[in-house]
Amino acid sequence: MKILVVGGAGYIGSICAEVLLDQKHDVAILDNLSDGHRRAVDPRAEFIEGDLGDRKTTADTLARLRPEAVMHFAASALVGESMLNPSKYFRNNIANGLNLLDAMLAAEVRRLVFSSTCATFGPPERVPIDEETPQRPINPYGESKLAFEKILRWYDAIHGLRFVSLRYFNAAGASEKFGEDHRCETHLIPNVLKVALGQKKHVEIFGTDYETPDGTCIRDYIHIIDLAHAHILALQAPGSAFYNLGTGGGSSVREVIESCRKITGKPIPVMEKSRRPGDPLRLIASSEKIKGELGWRPRFQTLDAIVDSAWKWHQKFPRGYED
Ligand code: UDP
Repeated sequence: MKILVVGGAGYIGSICAEVLLDQKHDVAILDNLSDGHRRAVDPRAEFIEGDLGDRKTTADTLARLRPEAVMHFAASALVGESMLNPSKYFRNNIANGLNLLDAMLAAEVRRLVFSSTCATFGPPERVPIDEETPQRPINPYGESKLAFEKILRWYDAIHGLRFVSLRYFNAAGASEKFGEDHRCETHLIPNVLKVALGQKKHVEIFGTDYETPDGTCIRDYIHIIDLAHAHILALQAPGSAFYNLGTGGGSSVREVIESCRKITGKPIPVMEKSRRPGDPLRLIASSEKIKGELGWRPRFQTLDAIVDSAWKWHQKFPRGYED
């Protein structure tokens, strides 16, 4: 298929583009490089540098390429930043996303795979979180993604735009070529690995007094290549749908650090800090729906396997995508 990957220079988009190309799909990447990296663009793909806020570039790109489907990864995705700058989140994730949808309709492209998030749920009453769990986001990031999910329902009902919205839990790990390199790194696994690389003295643990067995927050870490495969299966979905995507397992912050010690062989000193605002104590996915309907199966079942792939990438590219 001919696929336009919007946000294909970012962490998740770059690896989805790589897996699509490996499977012989024809891929073009549209990215404004605000958070993504030119070096994360797979050289086999056509690259268009452009911003979804620029309606003309967006419309021209869709009209010229006329892809069979679009994968939409281009978004602002940091909870903490969204609490300081909600305008950025509502503008990028809703208004600019609408430009994409309208350009798709004008070019008669009616198939979309959308990057959504477990942040649309807010703190759940119970885990695992399935698709019936009420969505009550507690930050503008989750709110913006939920708003876009609602817009997608209407675009399907009114314009016949078929979509699959994938709500990721904690994406982690790397492929051999592409990995996680954020200009401002807030995520746990890359921060722990920076300590292992000697680039940071210690890793901070945000909160050790949660009501969990070891006092630290629990997350469902899912390998980026398993996520990529879910996107490819989503292209074949019979109708519009929402799916939660995780492994169904939970790892605490301390367990992640322990796994990194084991895989890297480094001591990894920690500093215990107070809780980070907005962190729910436990987020674990039920992915039964996508397993049943699309036959998705995660191949990376253990945290060690996920950390191992991330460590290999960070050792190969200790400065990430920098020169
Ligand atoms: N965390 C931490 N130290 C760090 C980064 C993250 O203790 O340097 C914790 C964070 O508070 C959360 C978990 O690790 O409980 C996962 O955070 P991350 O930012 O990786 O993903 P999130 O779940 O917020 O999307």
